[in-house]
Amino acid sequence: METSNCIICGSDEHTHFADLQDRLDPKGQQSFSLVRCKCGFIYLNPRPAESEISKYYNSPGYDPHKSASKTLFDRLYGWVQRLALIAKHRRISPYFETGALLDIGGGQGEFCEYMAKRGWQVSLQDNSLTALAAARKKGINCFTSLDTIDDDIKFDLITLWHALEHIHDIGALFSCIRDHLKKNGILVVAVPNHDAPERKWYQDKWAPYDAPRHLYHFTPESLRRFLGSRGYKPDKQYGLLQDTPYNILLSMGPKSLKNIFRAGLILVNSVYIFLLYGVNRASSVVFICKKD
Ligand SMILES: [Zn+2]
Repeated sequence: METSNCIICGSDEHTHFADLQDRLDPKGQQSFSLVRCKCGFIYLNPRPAESEISKYYNSPGYDPHKSASKTLFDRLYGWVQRLALIAKHRRISPYFETGALLDIGGGQGEFCEYMAKRGWQVSLQDNSLTALAAARKKGINCFTSLDTIDDDIKFDLITLWHALEHIHDIGALFSCIRDHLKKNGILVVAVPNHDAPERKWYQDKWAPYDAPRHLYHFTPESLRRFLGSRGYKPDKQYGLLQDTPYNILLSMGPKSLKNIFRAGLILVNSVYIFLLYGVNRASSVVFICKKD
């Protein structure tokens, strides 16, 4: 384990915020702490060092690495994911019809594959060797780490779909983005929103806490501050409604009648609050950024 400072203001002054269990460890043998920096940012501290984090991803229950199965839910979720890909592409089209894309933390390459079919040159980086093997089978150019990308390779679009909150070395990440994003390129960042309405109902069982894999917990306000501190200015921002039922399903616990009924009420409440207040209360937020 290692301690870390706030990635926004650099301070090591913080107060205790919450204690969390690993949702994938049924015995709950290890507890993790969230702290709140004096600037308000919430993050995991102490956290597993980068050299020891991989064991926390190796659970067969880890959702993004689950292999495809045929339950009704999986099929339904696959359909929702397909709609999400269409929506992501539509948000990017006003900036570039085609170009070169780097998807950081791109997993098995679903987004890259979709973009390649629409004329994009696609590359992906991920730490999971299993995910990289699956991505390579789709014909996607893959990098095992960001520092293996040749200096002369430049991208029009760099995406971090639910990846930023997993990354230890934020300095190295942004030096890669600085070196490889074209001058007029765009950076897309999507993260869970700590101000999501369903969090207050599930509290420490809120699935996007996902300790110790999620190291940082942004709100739209803190994400804007963070990106500004790294030299990026949001051009557009929007909320991801499809993450609301997904988060609730992962947070609800055993699927008893009582929990399902409660989840239904929380879903209605969360969607209502999102429709009323917009991106600031969405389950996940997406920022499309340009260089400041
Ligand atoms: Zn801070």
